[in-house]
Amino acid sequence: MHRDGMTVTPGSSNGVLITTETETFRLDPGKTLGGDVNVVSHAHSDHLPRGGTEMQIVASRETIELARMRTGKKYTGIRHGSVRLLDAGHVPGSKMVMVRDELSYLYTGDFCTRKKVYLNRARAVRTDVLVTETTYGHPRYRFPDPVELAGVIRDWAADTLSRGHSIIFSAYPLGKAQELQVILRGMPVYADEPVERHNRILQGPKDEPLAAPLARIGTDPSIVITSGRGIMPTLPAAIRRNAMTATASGWCLDGGFRGRMGYDEAFPLSDHCDYYDLLDFVKGCSPSLVYTVHGFDSEFAASIRKELGIEAKPLRQKKEKQKKLDSF
Ligand SMILES: [Zn+2]
Ligand SMILES: [Zn+2]
Repeated sequence: MHRDGMTVTPGSSNGVLITTETETFRLDPGKTLGGDVNVVSHAHSDHLPRGGTEMQIVASRETIELARMRTGKKYTGIRHGSVRLLDAGHVPGSKMVMVRDELSYLYTGDFCTRKKVYLNRARAVRTDVLVTETTYGHPRYRFPDPVELAGVIRDWAADTLSRGHSIIFSAYPLGKAQELQVILRGMPVYADEPVERHNRILQGPKDEPLAAPLARIGTDPSIVITSGRGIMPTLPAAIRRNAMTATASGWCLDGGFRGRMGYDEAFPLSDHCDYYDLLDFVKGCSPSLVYTVHGFDSEFAASIRKELGIEAKPLRQKKEKQKKLDSF
């Protein structure tokens, strides 16, 4: 893309680049680069820098603190006059990135437009160029309303506990774990150490704890929120013996997911837009050009062209060096 001197490129596997006459904005770089404006949308590992020469990044306060904890590097937050961070509704601290020069560029990072029980949702904003993630950009993905699904999960958990079973809930330690803890509030919920570590950063000193430390678990039916599958042998026999396993993921809409992954129960609770949310979002932003990244990028670019009549193409890294998007 090259208009009025600005270019969007895949960034040779080092983030998405938006270059103006005077500056380079490096969005979700694998390695930060001195001299560029490095922006991090959220603290999931596939979006966090794994090193680099620049410790000052544009990101939310939560993302900076999580990045420090997760990478052990001393990142600090800065602001930039051309960059605005907007709620992405994906996980705590997640932001979409708006870069404004002569044109406006919106990079969604990972995002969700459905209201969750514990986060503000992402909202469409008018932009000239949109770079959107398309993880679930196929019509077979239609997710239920997260607030209604929260009720289903709560009911299932209450019923399972009342029948004398414990529940081992596997969840990403950032995002899904906090959402489940909010959904299950008031029940006997225990969190493993990685989940606790994220909770500590995301909670204020005066907040009611999201869960009790796993070390305090007794013998009564309880819920364990864990980031890994290896927790079972470490649990007391009374909990382990009668436990049901569960997870929450958008992928469980794929046939056979639950059985293949070996869970007793799987809930289609996703931190991303489904296909229909993505189409609505693109329409709401009314861009003149869309780049798609992740998942069904080619398929969804075709859907945008067909359903909305907007120019769209996947933002993929070219094998050949130096190839710009102009040459698509
Ligand atoms: Zn993410
Ligand atoms: Zn991601």
